[in-house]
Amino acid sequence: MNVDLTDEQEQLRDAVRALGRRYGHEYFVAKAKAGEHTTELWAEAGGLGYLGVNIPTEYGGGGGGITELAIVCEELAAAGCPLLLLVVSPAIAATVINRHGTEAQRKRFLPGFADGSLKVVFAITEPEAGSNFHRLGTVARRDGDGWLLSGRKCYISGVDEADHVLVVARVAVDDDGTGGRQRLKPALFVVPTDAAGLTRSKLDMEILSPENQFLLYLDDVRLPADALVGESVDAGLPALFAGLNPERITVAAMGAGTGRYAIERASSYAAGRKVWGGRSIGSHQGVSHPLAHAAVQVELARLMIYKAAALYDAGRDLEAGVAGNMAKYASGEAAALAVDTAVQAHGGAGMTTEYGVATLLGAVRAGRIAPVSREMILNFVAQHVLGQEKSY
Ligand SMILES: Cc1cc2nc3c(=O)[nH]c(=O)nc-3n(C[C@H](O)[C@H](O)[C@H](O)COP(=O)(O)OP(=O)(O)OC[C@H]3O[C@@H](n4cnc5c(N)ncnc54)[C@H](O)[C@@H]3O)c2cc1C
Repeated sequence: MNVDLTDEQEQLRDAVRALGRRYGHEYFVAKAKAGEHTTELWAEAGGLGYLGVNIPTEYGGGGGGITELAIVCEELAAAGCPLLLLVVSPAIAATVINRHGTEAQRKRFLPGFADGSLKVVFAITEPEAGSNFHRLGTVARRDGDGWLLSGRKCYISGVDEADHVLVVARVAVDDDGTGGRQRLKPALFVVPTDAAGLTRSKLDMEILSPENQFLLYLDDVRLPADALVGESVDAGLPALFAGLNPERITVAAMGAGTGRYAIERASSYAAGRKVWGGRSIGSHQGVSHPLAHAAVQVELARLMIYKAAALYDAGRDLEAGVAGNMAKYASGEAAALAVDTAVQAHGGAGMTTEYGVATLLGAVRAGRIAPVSREMILNFVAQHVLGQEKSY
């Protein structure tokens, strides 16, 4: 078993770390508080090729895989800049289009993903369906050569910064096996964010982030035939699954980077802060052991993240699915623990904006819910790894 990154991956890690540190958590927080986006960081990362590391070279990308994208997500987060749009745009949307789009769609969209000039966000969650995607109510109806989309989506990240939304809808198809009855199949549509009939309202979230969540209303949004991802509706289900592993792996990498950031801040504070004579607070095991414990959890999550990424890049999708879910679970828990422990190690300073750790409490808490909740991952592991009966 090789636990080392390649020289190129190490160089990527060092370069992204250097870029992230030039911006830092103060930049991320200032943007969030001003209600602005991290436009400069995104543009610079895109210009340097970091946002397109997983896009094939023939479309202008780096020709790497999800391992490289996970490195980018982790290192920016470790510098205090956890960018959720890295998960939705290059990880989910670009993978779906690359793996299941038509050649015309690849040519149209992948160069923009490669240099970061194009942002495509992802809309699956609905108010009535929640974690139960079988209940999705957004429907696509045929309209001449094209489509009409209607439905509602919630918690959709980054719609205000994106050019397009990749919308999961259901299409009525003839079901030969049931005597002419129709059933609804999932399909994915690339919808311009300025399409007529698409409206949004911003959700007030208790997460300090420059990236926002939205309710989306699709009211007979008229789309051309080529808005459907792939050659036919049959591409829908595999396309949807194609996005899941990259999503879990990169969001886990973001969580691990955030955990590392928090532990680094707290370790440095604990080593320098003295309130009992000449000894640092970090000399007290009541402070250092929780930090060490959190560091162990984050490192364990990292091992599973890069195992999942390696499996995925080797084309071993099923194994990557198990490892990716486990990595996402482990990272979500580890990041929440690390940030909470870092706040505690700082005492009162931990709750100030200046020390830059409590600013991440909302984000890491959300990481145990989204993009897939810890309970749904435990369900997956219980059923698919442990062979337990499904309860729902
Ligand atoms: C910050 C943030 C960003 C997001 N960004 C996006 C985005 O860009 N695009 C998008 O499509 N969605 C996005 N989401 C939505 C996210 O994916 C959902 O919130 C998540 O999948 C959970 O769905 P829900 O909120 O409807 O919870 P529900 O399904 O209502 O679940 C509520 C609780 O019940 C538990 N639960 C439900 N069913 C079961 C079961 N069978 N067994 C055990 N426990 C169960 C859940 O784990 C959860 O704890 C985002 C959410 C957040 C918080």
